[in-house]
Amino acid sequence: MAFDIDVIRNVYAKMSSKIKKARKLVGRPLTYAEKILYSHLWDESIDTIFKRGEDYVDFGPDRVTCQDATAQMALLQFMQAGKDKVAVPTTVHCDHLILAQSGAQKDLKNANKVSSEVFNFLESVSRKYGIGFWKPGAGIIHQVILENYAFPGGMMIGTDSHTVNAGGLGMVAIGVGGADAVDVMAGMPWELKFPKLIGIKLTGKLNGWASAKDVILKVAGILTVKGGTGYILEYFGDGAESLSCTGKGTICNMGAEVGATTSIFAYDESMERYLKSTEREDIVMAAQNIKEDLRADPEVYDNPEKYFDEIIEIDLNTLTPHINGPFTPDLATPVNEMKAKAKSEGWPTDIKWGLIGSCTNSSYEDLSRAASIAKQALDKNIKIKSKLGINPGSEQVRYTAERDGIIDLFEKLESKIFTNACGPCIGQWNREGENNTEKNSIIHSFNRNFAKRADGNPNTHAFVTSPEMVMAVALSGNLDFNPMTDNLISEEGNKVVLDPPIGDELPSNGFDCEDNGYVEPPIDGSDIQIKIDPDSKRLQILEAFSPWDGKNINNAKLLIKAHGKCTTDHISMAGPWLRFRGHLDNISDNCLIGAVNSFNMKTNFVKNQITGEYGPVPETQRFYKKNKIDTVVIGDHNYGEGSSREHAAMDLGILE
Ligand code: SF4
Repeated sequence: MAFDIDVIRNVYAKMSSKIKKARKLVGRPLTYAEKILYSHLWDESIDTIFKRGEDYVDFGPDRVTCQDATAQMALLQFMQAGKDKVAVPTTVHCDHLILAQSGAQKDLKNANKVSSEVFNFLESVSRKYGIGFWKPGAGIIHQVILENYAFPGGMMIGTDSHTVNAGGLGMVAIGVGGADAVDVMAGMPWELKFPKLIGIKLTGKLNGWASAKDVILKVAGILTVKGGTGYILEYFGDGAESLSCTGKGTICNMGAEVGATTSIFAYDESMERYLKSTEREDIVMAAQNIKEDLRADPEVYDNPEKYFDEIIEIDLNTLTPHINGPFTPDLATPVNEMKAKAKSEGWPTDIKWGLIGSCTNSSYEDLSRAASIAKQALDKNIKIKSKLGINPGSEQVRYTAERDGIIDLFEKLESKIFTNACGPCIGQWNREGENNTEKNSIIHSFNRNFAKRADGNPNTHAFVTSPEMVMAVALSGNLDFNPMTDNLISEEGNKVVLDPPIGDELPSNGFDCEDNGYVEPPIDGSDIQIKIDPDSKRLQILEAFSPWDGKNINNAKLLIKAHGKCTTDHISMAGPWLRFRGHLDNISDNCLIGAVNSFNMKTNFVKNQITGEYGPVPETQRFYKKNKIDTVVIGDHNYGEGSSREHAAMDLGILE
């Protein structure tokens, strides 16, 4: 049975009448995204036609989700809200604080030792306030959500940018900061600028080496990292219906990389199959009666240009695999152009590591397609040239993949099976044997590849591609390997051409699992005491910021003028800093250390306007604070965008 099925049935019971009212009000057919937005208005009596891209609107999301890095601050805030329980179903997932190094067993043990204080805190707060808790090792937040909680027609917010993954199961799911999440957890409305809409029409069917990942790599190349800002990307067309549900999740997931508010697919048979396979037939039954409301009106599909602000068309029949990067996910290169491009750009083509996983590409289908390439290598005695690491998306996926012999194939290629967690994707990776400065290349199936993201080395060129392409490139050890035309050489010296990948959309013997890592909260958690050690380096009770005194700031000094992208990743970096996410004073020592100073193009090297000396940003700011000198920061592209906005804002706040 699905979690919170009564909540879902309740949403469905009211959805049709709300959509009917909205259609009448707007006076035209509605897109699917609009149907969900209008049926989740906080004030149901409102009869306003909202202007896309202009009006701020209050919504009532159906659920909230948090990952361990952002949950700490969100829950510290919720504890101050004076509530006994969360107002809407909420979950916490421990996936960011697990360092990938030796392999799942040792790494998980180590994480449970190093971060036990944080995990215990999150679990006890979850138990107290009725929040579902997913233990370390249970899986990556967005795969666990897709497998257990996402439902067509629903609205969810989450304290992570890739919450948008749930659009693959027909949900408007949006990444927010912790304060937004806390509002909804406390029973308050959540405000969003009514998004504009880009319709993405997919025609045809994927074939050969092309995968769902290539759809979004192509879209990223078209829209760039800024082109989706303020938009919902709504996919439709026969090509959309031909994709698997987890493939749709991959596409929606990486919509965050073009800045989109979220991405969404309409309810279809692939979603039905996925819901049934993950034991949620009750949602399929409930959705049966409102199927027409779980997709755009037919007129929208007939004349999409009349209803969307922009239209993009992609023919899946002719789509070929892409490799995006380095340093930005929108630098799209079709695989057959990589040889020339890598040469002209001077990218290192020797691939040191291939990494498969992250919330983007860690489904059973992803692993099975990559494994089909691994099997060919083993059958034909081809030795893998790069190191290989795998992060399965959830314990359910890992357990089933192990049962079905998929993990065994990876292990025979001497890959490291890391924990079902984010690992290298969020910089939680102890990349052994590297001096952390050398110019080198890695290739992965993650969504982000900004400088330093995976291993902290600014000279690591990280490339993004599908799991099956990661496997093929890792086998060859060359970035410019094109599996459609190039040979591999077996240990016997034979030339081998790889067959295109094959995989199972869903496990033919169903999913299986012994312990999925879920901890159900008690019905009444009022007796549970939350204790935080006052000397803790990891957790700190929040104190209110002083309110603004109403006076303008004069004679402020410039702390930093950023150059280029200045997202929350640049303002409050992840990696080793994640351990301080529950301790505001300690984490503020990472403030803006990833931003490039536009005066000298260096990171974390700014001029102290009083002493004339150059130094790290946080240290310089602490000097100003101590001397009661006001400062300003000038941002640049994508300023403050990203899932760490809570910390990005508070870092600056506490150093003021
Ligand atoms: S993008 Fe990476 S770090 Fe973020 S949730 Fe997904 S796997 Fe984790």
